[in-house]
Amino acid sequence: PVVTRFAPSPTGFLHIGGARTAMFNWLFARHHGGKALLRIEDTDKVRSTQEAIDAILEGLDWLGLDWDDEPVFQSRRAERHAEVARELLASGNAYKCFATPEELAEMREQQRAEKKPMRYDGRWRDRDPSEAPEGAPFAIRLKTEQQGKVTIADAVQGDVSVQNSEIDDFILLRSDGTPTYMLAVVVDDHDMGVTHLVRGDDHLNNAFRQLALIRAMGWAEPVYAHIPLIHGNDGAKLSKRHGALGVEAYRDMGIMSDAMFNYLLRLGWGHGDDEIISRAQAIEWFDLAGVGKSPSRFDAKKLQNLNGQYIREADDSVLVALTRPLIGKLMERDLTDAEGELLTQAMPVLKSRAKNLNELAENSVFLYKKRPLGLDEKAQALLDADARHLLESIHSALAKLDDWTLEATEDCVKAIAEAAELGLGKLAQPMRAALTGSTSSPGIFDVLVLLGKQESLARLEDQTK
Ligand code: GLU
Repeated sequence: PVVTRFAPSPTGFLHIGGARTAMFNWLFARHHGGKALLRIEDTDKVRSTQEAIDAILEGLDWLGLDWDDEPVFQSRRAERHAEVARELLASGNAYKCFATPEELAEMREQQRAEKKPMRYDGRWRDRDPSEAPEGAPFAIRLKTEQQGKVTIADAVQGDVSVQNSEIDDFILLRSDGTPTYMLAVVVDDHDMGVTHLVRGDDHLNNAFRQLALIRAMGWAEPVYAHIPLIHGNDGAKLSKRHGALGVEAYRDMGIMSDAMFNYLLRLGWGHGDDEIISRAQAIEWFDLAGVGKSPSRFDAKKLQNLNGQYIREADDSVLVALTRPLIGKLMERDLTDAEGELLTQAMPVLKSRAKNLNELAENSVFLYKKRPLGLDEKAQALLDADARHLLESIHSALAKLDDWTLEATEDCVKAIAEAAELGLGKLAQPMRAALTGSTSSPGIFDVLVLLGKQESLARLEDQTK
């Protein structure tokens, strides 16, 4: 059975790269009917915060990623980590290192001066611990293989090898008894039964050390899949400089969760030329073979466009549910049920124009404004004396209509335009200003029909005075 895990360090928000790693782990597990687990790597007590944990959980939840079992908190497992270090000590796969911090600093200084790679030189590897001063503090180090090379058959990167001599005897347990990150990850992955490790390729180097530890314990080796990092549009590693934000920032920009999911999915994974891929299809199709070997580029513009596509294709009821609270915020009051009804009615028209949910909400507000409407600056500027005069003729012609439909209102306004030898836009703009208080809105006849005859006439009349 497949078991994957997402193992974020809660030192900041759930950024784009982390979200994608989470998704790939989740998809791989769901595809195989296995388990997707969540582990919070909160061993760095100084940098880990509850706020970050909450932001990560919220971000994952927003993306629709659910996890099997309760999340594991790494910091609570320190005792178990130490136990494994002692086991390795007992089996001769690890040893006590009594080197003092000063001594190690000196060793590194010398290596730096000689331009040698900086790594622990194994000075306590073969020494008898009885040579150390009575009660001296010690770290526990793994006794690593120094001959030959080790190869990882990475599911994304292919075969990757390093010389064993490059892997020094790294610390498992510090002299203060706390486990290192390297030890904690391996023990937790083993205890959680993780079979596949899908993570950023910035962890590839760690994998060789982790594998050495796994082999020393005689544990089952997981399949590694190190996915290329995400880059910005300029090809450099994605950073804050690129406006790389936490996923919640995209939610707040009005991106739909499904659109974000689809966008992140295709950032590094592909299925032929398919661009729009639903969650269900993603679960059906996801595999590691489809993960590309080169970094993908994050393009906020593409995300916006995809989001627009998702909005146009979403069920009206879904959009109403997502937009209603946003409108409430803009209006500083909740919509009544009747106003909610109107939103449902208006949605087919509204959604054809919006790139994000915030825009959708902003474009809906005209439906609920109370008369007389406050006009924004541009709308106000449109309504000069001529325009007001036009509005008067439009008002009286529309007032005579019995049939308040798209066709009837359009025919009526067109006839006025023709008689006045004006383009339709010359009439539509002041109408829009009067009816919506702004210069952008859905098509003007849609606006008339949505507002209804009585409200439309009243709003037009308000601006003729
Ligand atoms: N906690 C690590 C990180 O946030 C991930 C470790 C791993 O996936 O092995 O980068």
